[in-house]
Amino acid sequence: MTTYPRITVIGAGIIGCAVAYELGRRGAAVTVLERRDVALGATQASAGMLAPFIEAHHGGPLRALGVRSLELYDRFISDVVADSRPVSYYRTGTLEVATDDAMLGDLAAVAHQLSSEGVDSELLDAVGARRAEPHLSADVAGALLVPAQGFVAAAALAQALREAAVRHGVIFRTASAASGLRPVNGHVEVTVDDGEHTADAVVIATGSWTGALGIDGIQPPPVRPVRGQLLQLDWTGDPLSRVIFAPRCYVVPWENGAVLVGATEEEVGFDERATAGGVAELLDAIGALLPASQAAGFEEVRVGLRPGTPDDLPVLGRAEVVPNVIYATGHYRNGVLLAPVTAQLIADLVLDDQEDALLVPFTPARFHTT
Ligand SMILES: Cc1cc2nc3c(=O)[nH]c(=O)nc-3n(C[C@H](O)[C@H](O)[C@H](O)COP(=O)(O)OP(=O)(O)OC[C@H]3O[C@@H](n4cnc5c(N)ncnc54)[C@H](O)[C@@H]3O)c2cc1C
Repeated sequence: MTTYPRITVIGAGIIGCAVAYELGRRGAAVTVLERRDVALGATQASAGMLAPFIEAHHGGPLRALGVRSLELYDRFISDVVADSRPVSYYRTGTLEVATDDAMLGDLAAVAHQLSSEGVDSELLDAVGARRAEPHLSADVAGALLVPAQGFVAAAALAQALREAAVRHGVIFRTASAASGLRPVNGHVEVTVDDGEHTADAVVIATGSWTGALGIDGIQPPPVRPVRGQLLQLDWTGDPLSRVIFAPRCYVVPWENGAVLVGATEEEVGFDERATAGGVAELLDAIGALLPASQAAGFEEVRVGLRPGTPDDLPVLGRAEVVPNVIYATGHYRNGVLLAPVTAQLIADLVLDDQEDALLVPFTPARFHTT
């Protein structure tokens, strides 16, 4: 078993909760330090889409990681739910909409690539797209249907992960901000508001705030906040049957007849406010995509700071000079999708010293965080 009897996870978003759960269920003694409460960072704003074939159209390391995670999702949800409570999770597919012929040509190339990888998809012309989703505007040129993708209630999943983790003995300390880390004689001293906390290994899952956590001798990876605003509308028409993804917005059928409309992408630092401009942008986009949205009620706007990196890839792996400090951060637009694979690969690394080849492109060392 582990060479690290006491493991501390810093941050209780979807990533910290998933990692803590996986470590706990494999028998490790885990404490989670969270400065606010569970899932109040980017995770509470997330649309929860599970769509690696949209997020990484043409392959590459993010696609490989996302596909592995999607494959893990059914089992991940059933394990977590068995240890906690039900979570809304749907694999009803995605409809990626083209608004002109050039875009439809791009989607045809994606469909071709998916077919060569053995992934089921269907390219639809304008008539077929509107048959698949009758609410679509008459302006659409076509769409790509990918049945394997879906969505999950992200904040509810994080809460379920916490509950399940607690069942496996994980301790959650909320309202506990870590302000710095100090490697000492093979351990790591974590400075928390109420004193020092000692761990044998520390997993940093602090999302957008990763750069603020000072670690003696380590330059943190360059994670920056990318604000996303997302609307929840009370949909009054016939329900949407699946995620609709278009160039200016996406729409996720939600619980109790609601739909989620996302999302803005804004480089505004750590400003977590909703803005009139952000709301207007999303309302305009969904109005053009689904004209029936004009009759929807306005329920709320959510705001989150996605943890972005210079190459848009997550940061997963050991800090080079302090190997018992492990990063699980920088998941940008895909932290919910990537939660199961992150938990599995980080637990393999921390508990069994196994570094899966999938992790290589995501090493913190690519930013010279020595
Ligand atoms: C509008 C929007 C829509 C999105 N849609 C999707 C989607 O459809 N699919 C998808 O996969 N992803 C989506 N994402 C991205 C996804 O939400 C993020 O990638 C994911 O939530 C990141 O999780 P995290 O746990 O790393 O970060 P967070 O959820 O931000 O959690 C980090 C936690 O660390 C805590 N913390 C930070 N510093 C400290 C410290 N020093 N001490 C203690 N605690 C600390 C914070 O308080 C926070 O709770 C979306 C994001 C947004 C904003």
